[in-house]
Amino acid sequence: MDVALYEGEILNITAEVSRYSDVEKERMIDKYRKAAEKKAMACPFCHEELRLRAGEIRDIHFAHLKGRSCQESEAYDTYQNQTKRENKKHSVVKEIIYNELKGQELIRPDLKVEYGYKEKAEEKWKHFPDIYLNKNGREFAVSVITNVHEIGDDKVVKTINKRNKYFQDKGLESIWFVEDRELADDFEHRVLHLWEAEYGLAIKTEEDNKWDKLLNELSEEFPGYNIPHLFGYRAHGPMNHDVRSLYYVHSIGDEITFSMYRLILDQMRSPFRAFALTKGYRMNISQALIVRDEILLSDKEREDQNRLEFANQVLFQIEASKAEALLKRDSNEARNKQKVREDYFATIVHESFKEVALTHFSIDIDVVEYISKLKYLSLSPNESEALFYFLKIHRKELEDYGLTLIEVKKWVRYALGKVNEPKIRKWLVEIDEL
Ligand SMILES: [Zn+2]
Repeated sequence: MDVALYEGEILNITAEVSRYSDVEKERMIDKYRKAAEKKAMACPFCHEELRLRAGEIRDIHFAHLKGRSCQESEAYDTYQNQTKRENKKHSVVKEIIYNELKGQELIRPDLKVEYGYKEKAEEKWKHFPDIYLNKNGREFAVSVITNVHEIGDDKVVKTINKRNKYFQDKGLESIWFVEDRELADDFEHRVLHLWEAEYGLAIKTEEDNKWDKLLNELSEEFPGYNIPHLFGYRAHGPMNHDVRSLYYVHSIGDEITFSMYRLILDQMRSPFRAFALTKGYRMNISQALIVRDEILLSDKEREDQNRLEFANQVLFQIEASKAEALLKRDSNEARNKQKVREDYFATIVHESFKEVALTHFSIDIDVVEYISKLKYLSLSPNESEALFYFLKIHRKELEDYGLTLIEVKKWVRYALGKVNEPKIRKWLVEIDEL
């Protein structure tokens, strides 16, 4: 163990010797070793005398006399070993939470707050929560976790699951506070990106049960709608209405705040993610840890408000998706109508384009000369075609030249009796039928 009671205070020998240079270190260790031999160092738990050991294999540490070790110091060592993976923030946050809860213990007789390793030393637990809470017989394991992604997500996942299982078997409900640098939320896409380990850190609170109830009511009222889908969340697979919450710790200097996220975990596969029911919100430590009839961990009024807003959003999204479906159907119909119209116009346009082109061409013809050629049976096939279109479109203009259609047709019939060329005859027949 790294601590001893020395001159009325806790001495942490690891922290103490780290203050000195290598040369001085030897001298300091020697000094404390002698003090221990003179019975100046006591166990902070059982107050038995301790010796200072500074071997090659183990780091410098205090130890009871042979065969005199106490349960609490053993529990303390287990706990120290367990928290080795955590960073410096871990103990800072843990102490702040402990002090806050300890303050509440004074005014709430049914609340008991203790460090996990102290509370359960006697039972020789294999894992300890940072803080043990007992509220009117209901037990909680409160743990702060840092470095979630480090030493491989896989290993952390196993560690967390093992502890969750262990505490559960011992009848405790787990509450996790996660270091905020792991937070990756994107409310615009209603998604919370997670480490695999964070699946095990999402807990179920009373407020989450209320959310479950709301979601079930909404699904009953609007069957056939997938709620996460309504919000544009693209799920890995079917999602149950099992709302959970994740608590992140933010620390700036000594100031600590929490933020809480309400979510539905997606299927456990990469990329690990969850549907975000609400935008996360921040709470200060006393708000977050109000212990009334239960550990609240959330702002009750705000949750009621959030649920109301969420229900409204669902209604809005359903209306929007109905409107969209309607619009789609209409536009399908419209598109079909448009297609028919376009096909129709395509034929007409094709014809009229030809007519316009030929009209333009026919305007240029010298109709008197063409009629003269008709009389002398010298119209070419192209000229015959041009004459047809001219007469078709500009027949009224014939008058300007002192001609009539009937007169022209008389000459056409005459020509038909004399001309054998099919390309010419075709257009002459067309003119005759005008
Ligand atoms: Zn002891």
